[in-house]
Amino acid sequence: MKKSWFFLFVLVTAVAAGTVGVRLRKHEPVQKQTRFLMGALCTIRIPGGPEALPVIARALDRAEEIDRRFNPLNPGSPLYAFNQQGTPITQPDIVALVQTALDVSRKTDGAFDITVFPLIELWGFEGSSPRLPEQRQIDDCLKKVGWRKLVIEAGTLTKLEAGVKIDLGGIAKGYAVAEAVTVLTNANIRSALVDFGGDIYALGANRGKPWKIGIRKPVHDGGVLAGLDVSDMSLATSGDYERCFEKDGVRYHHILDPKTGYPARGIAGITVLTPDPTMGDAYSTALFVMGPERAMPHVAAIPSMEAVMITSKGTIDVSNGLKDRFAKP
Ligand code: ADP
Ligand code: MG
Repeated sequence: MKKSWFFLFVLVTAVAAGTVGVRLRKHEPVQKQTRFLMGALCTIRIPGGPEALPVIARALDRAEEIDRRFNPLNPGSPLYAFNQQGTPITQPDIVALVQTALDVSRKTDGAFDITVFPLIELWGFEGSSPRLPEQRQIDDCLKKVGWRKLVIEAGTLTKLEAGVKIDLGGIAKGYAVAEAVTVLTNANIRSALVDFGGDIYALGANRGKPWKIGIRKPVHDGGVLAGLDVSDMSLATSGDYERCFEKDGVRYHHILDPKTGYPARGIAGITVLTPDPTMGDAYSTALFVMGPERAMPHVAAIPSMEAVMITSKGTIDVSNGLKDRFAKP
């Protein structure tokens, strides 16, 4: 009994830490391409011959397009014009993703909120030198935050106050995964592994068997600890070890609580499994903000969503549907 507990502990630690790897069997051909997009290495693998390469390229082209058009830091993007000048957004795919983000805001009591961008800028998490702001600056900034300040009407996104700015960083990578998978399935690809910097989708099976997602230790060069068998499933992870800095012994990271303006506390990492990668990405961020008490009960209430959480204290929590699905690598 004790032994199996230990086994579970190790596996779950690794999953929540979120560094994920993939094992393909040796000596069997697999086509693979990687591009650096959305601040992450984005890789698509398809078992089989090189005829799949042009399809992989098209799927990555779509991800590249999302990186360009959904990026508030790109001066040519509709998001930039919306944030800086208040230019309404009418592009259907962007408006649709904002609508999805607002739906998640409503369902998570505002834990997920794409209007956190002024705070992200204040903390400097959008750039390369983040810093600890003063309380007064955070208080000022919080006045510009709130998903109810966004309005979508007749397919057009507008804001109710001039200072409102949006950032799709908590959802766009999952959306890019979903869009890439659509490109693949439209081209009759039935088996693929899409991994955009930890936002993953396992399409179909890997030569008749479920995809085995290997989970690594949350340390540099950590070995693979465990494997999870998945098929037609997405995995998304949010963790406090990404984009962070330390000041006076305190670590500050890039997932902010829209209510306080400070990095959300209590969870070290949370991995969400759900069939829709866009939802998985948004919820991994939302649940992280909700904190250790509220996150797992919230998951339990959503059909088709499972999660593994590790708290900052090292406590592990696995949702019911996942408890018997861990396998050795
Ligand atoms: P990553 O994209 O780094 O893998 P997440 O999916 O958790 O991790 O997204 C974090 C990003 O989401 C931040 O960099 C920021 O752009 C944005 N963000 C931060 N806090 C929130 C929040 N409370 N709601 C929505 N988006 C957020
Ligand atoms: Mg996310």
